[in-house]
Amino acid sequence: MYEVYALKYGERDTTACQFFYRESSHATLTLHYFVWLIMGGPHPILVDTGFLDDDAHARGIRNYVSPASMVERAGVKAADVPLALITHLHYDHWAGHSLFPGAEYWIQQDEVAFWTGPYGRTPAFRGSANVNALAGLVTLNYANRVRIIDGDREVLPGLRLHRVGGHTAGLQIVSVETARGTVVLTSDASHFYHNVETRHPVQIITSLPEMLDAFETIDALAGAGRLIVAGHDPQVAERFTPVEPGIIKIA
Ligand SMILES: [Zn+2]
Repeated sequence: MYEVYALKYGERDTTACQFFYRESSHATLTLHYFVWLIMGGPHPILVDTGFLDDDAHARGIRNYVSPASMVERAGVKAADVPLALITHLHYDHWAGHSLFPGAEYWIQQDEVAFWTGPYGRTPAFRGSANVNALAGLVTLNYANRVRIIDGDREVLPGLRLHRVGGHTAGLQIVSVETARGTVVLTSDASHFYHNVETRHPVQIITSLPEMLDAFETIDALAGAGRLIVAGHDPQVAERFTPVEPGIIKIA
């Protein structure tokens, strides 16, 4: 059986009206930044890679800690992570890839196509990109360290990727069987519990219908156990069990 941990590596404030779709409230909204670690299988598996100091400084992130040091605090050397499942290629999920020099990265084909295609560079999308980190994707692919996935995929027994899109062209989420039941790592298919629980989308989207369908997929995968881990929600630390500062045991 797997164990799942959320590892927090930063925080940032925005406003509800800048974040949620057609929202009028100016209330402050705090995002937490996480990578997730799956233990208990044949080797550790990381979900997403966070970002480096450059993005932390440029984007006004508070309480930044290197995602690699968070992984090490959880008991795994960064260089010993052989597999990282990449939910999507936004800077806060991909720009830390160099912290994990032994990893193979599994990414959806639609996601790779989008960020190497005609729209990524446009003003509507480029703010979510770290261009150097995206360029590294090509180098890593030619070094046989990228596995490009097309659709849903079993990673290991009891551990699956589900392509949902919506927020980005090839966003994938992760389901993990644990002793407590099925954990769903939504990443940015549901930044906050508010998204999936009220069906309220966010503003950063490639397909609104796919984002709405993703909420259905999350609920179907989670079932009655409701072990849903929202991608950027400070409530993750209240709904699950903090075991050390920044380390939350999900199951
Ligand atoms: Zn994100």
